[in-house]
Amino acid sequence: MDEELIQAMTARVLERLGRIPDRQPEDERGAADAPGELCGKNENFESGIRPGHDRLIVPIGVSARHAHLTPEHIERLFGAGHVLTPKKELMGGQYAAEECVTIVGTKLRAIENVRVLGPPRKASQVEISRTDAIRLGINPPVRDSGDLAGSSPIALVGPQGAVYLEEGCIIAKRHIHMSRPDAERFGVRDGDTVKVGFRTGRAGVLDDVGIRVDDSFSLEMHIDADEANSLGISDKTDGTVIYA
Ligand SMILES: [Zn+2]
Repeated sequence: MDEELIQAMTARVLERLGRIPDRQPEDERGAADAPGELCGKNENFESGIRPGHDRLIVPIGVSARHAHLTPEHIERLFGAGHVLTPKKELMGGQYAAEECVTIVGTKLRAIENVRVLGPPRKASQVEISRTDAIRLGINPPVRDSGDLAGSSPIALVGPQGAVYLEEGCIIAKRHIHMSRPDAERFGVRDGDTVKVGFRTGRAGVLDDVGIRVDDSFSLEMHIDADEANSLGISDKTDGTVIYA
């Protein structure tokens, strides 16, 4: 995409933003306030335990769409010398920042108020749901965070400028964070994949869930808004790991 098109895109998005001043970012999780109606207990799942280990019940964190940015891109979007303002602490030293951007797909469709997560990273990255991708008219791959080769192009617009990423937009692959002592307690290793069952009113099992072990992590499963809404899961729901 050439510079002229980016400028045109930026102008168009800023024009739109100008018509909706001071709008507060929405919480896009949808299901977050309403815990799903339970149709059984997590303990009812078969195979929910490894011999000699504790049953692994995971709290759920529903990830809204968000962006990670390089220091250079933060300055381009928010002005020279700008540093992110932390708003809410997340696990592993990460935080949700006060800053938001507008993301624009290659068909010039935009989504506003996309939260920036800090601290800054070596490569900028945008994580959205499949529903967001349809809205933007793009087709990003399902990937682990940081695995950006061949991912979708996307433009980001801030109050002071725009950034175009040749690649960098992904749909995050669902995963479970845990510490090393947790991994030992539950009998799993970094890189394992498991299934997780949910006894919600729209009960179901999510397959191919990656295990990520690091001492800075606390036990939490991360899914996106599509996954949460499809199974009636909220931040108040627990899942049960099924190994078989
Ligand atoms: Zn995560």
